[in-house]
Amino acid sequence: MSEPSIFTRILQGEIPSEIIAETENAFAIRDIAPQAPVHLLVIPKSQDYRNVVELAAGDPDLLSELIGLANTLAAEHADGDFRLIFNTGPAAGQTVFHVHAHVLAGGLEEGRLGG
Ligand code: 5GP
Repeated sequence: MSEPSIFTRILQGEIPSEIIAETENAFAIRDIAPQAPVHLLVIPKSQDYRNVVELAAGDPDLLSELIGLANTLAAEHADGDFRLIFNTGPAAGQTVFHVHAHVLAGGLEEGRLGG
């Protein structure tokens, strides 16, 4: 068994962080270092998958559940529009190897990707 990830420790209440939403297999917290007016993390309760590629291959229903939760939260915390980011691999900025989606929302019109 691997060491519990920081997100598992938050889920288990060992590290303080408000769980702002929860579904059967996923939960959400606010990012501790927000990069947008709304910056949430949507995370599977299981740490079985290290990144989104593993998750998509191993449990596409759970990936779908994460996206549904992101959509619900973007409607609750912003105007419903959102950017979904899965950093995948250290060179892409991934630091926690328990798959999670960054949900960015609110005032993203400036500095948008894709010119
Ligand atoms: P990654 O860099 O792996 O894509 O994303 C990890 C994210 O987790 C970072 O944006 C970081 O700010 C966030 N993070 C790391 N530790 C904590 C913590 O203890 N609490 C919360 N709420 N977020 C954290």
